[in-house]
Amino acid sequence: MRVCPVCSKPTIDKYKPFCSSRCADVDLHRWLSESYAIPVKASESDDALDEDPQNPPDKAEETSH
Ligand SMILES: [Zn+2]
Repeated sequence: MRVCPVCSKPTIDKYKPFCSSRCADVDLHRWLSESYAIPVKASESDDALDEDPQNPPDKAEETSH
């Protein structure tokens, strides 16, 4: 039998996966507050785009022979 993730009581089918609408509400608010607390790190990876070691610009000169 599964138990409520909030209070560890047996779950009720009507309120799966929780034991009551109250615990479902508690979990929802907990989830929302956690998602707001996580900072978004989107700008950190942008610096890597400036360098491109796979395609050095010197290669184009070899075709002039
Ligand atoms: Zn519960």
